[in-house]
Amino acid sequence: MDVQDQAPQVGYCCNCDDDVSVFLKKEIQGNEIRGIKVSTLVTNAYCKNCGEEVYIAKISDENLKLINQKYREENALICVSDIQNILKKYDIGAKPLSLLLGWGEVTILRYLKGQMPHKEHSDKLKAIMNPYVFAEIFESNKEVLSAVAKRKVEFTLRQLIESAPNEENAVLEKGLVEFYSQEPNIYNGYTEFSLKKTIHSILYFLEKCGPTYKTKMNKLLWFSDILNYKRHGHSITGLRYLCHHFGPVPVRYDYLYGCLSDVYVILWDNEYGTVLSAIKKYNSKCFSDEELKTLNDVLDACGTMSAAVISEFSHKQGSYKKAALKSLMPFSKDISIN
Ligand SMILES: [Zn+2]
Repeated sequence: MDVQDQAPQVGYCCNCDDDVSVFLKKEIQGNEIRGIKVSTLVTNAYCKNCGEEVYIAKISDENLKLINQKYREENALICVSDIQNILKKYDIGAKPLSLLLGWGEVTILRYLKGQMPHKEHSDKLKAIMNPYVFAEIFESNKEVLSAVAKRKVEFTLRQLIESAPNEENAVLEKGLVEFYSQEPNIYNGYTEFSLKKTIHSILYFLEKCGPTYKTKMNKLLWFSDILNYKRHGHSITGLRYLCHHFGPVPVRYDYLYGCLSDVYVILWDNEYGTVLSAIKKYNSKCFSDEELKTLNDVLDACGTMSAAVISEFSHKQGSYKKAALKSLMPFSKDISIN
């Protein structure tokens, strides 16, 4: 909105000690905020009689707003309307959001009233505009919220994530298929790579076991594939596995989980390693009855094992013992899970 269009054309001039007509002039004004210089194009009013600057509250307020905005822009700070959008987007109040982020209860209220956010707070607020980042923080801190607030956020988040655009991931998924696809051979359990079965095997275990360390997921996938191979002569996912110090791991598993990240799973690190948790439901229709039985049997045998225990358990399998370290593991039927 242009100040000139609606500003009053009359103001009190101290110099003339009278209400006078004013003219408006656009000028660059220098200010210093938190030690940082900002130059802003503002509008000032001048007395038509003597030329002195005249204070007009409405114009001054407008200028302050512009200076504030310029400072935010130059320091890439989040603006008030973006903060309002975050509250609306996740159906959460300013106080609960402050608590969720581990800040003082009134922090966000102050920002909404125009107080300049600290840089690191601003960065955090910008980050949670991404629902997956927000979901991660929500999952780890939601206990600070009231039951009602928690339910509201959970409901909204679910809708947001289900309707999230998928295009970027289609490219990533295509890359995965290209990377893993090979003619059926002894290293993929005589099964062509199935992205769908890989994703839904992972989601199956996450749904049944809850958040799971990457190292444990690697083993759950291997046990499912090799057990299915033992029973039916073919693996489930078509993944290839490397013989690793800590047990079998899918080839380029970081790449695999990375590609699924934010669409099917969320990855986060704690002091012990990377954890996966599901943001989609697994679809049992991807699997044959035989495959579901295999997944279920692996879940029964290994679902409650810690990452360390399942790793040790994999070391005891003949298939693992026979494989050469750091090389591709041929599928064999030398495995027993019960
Ligand atoms: Zn004057």
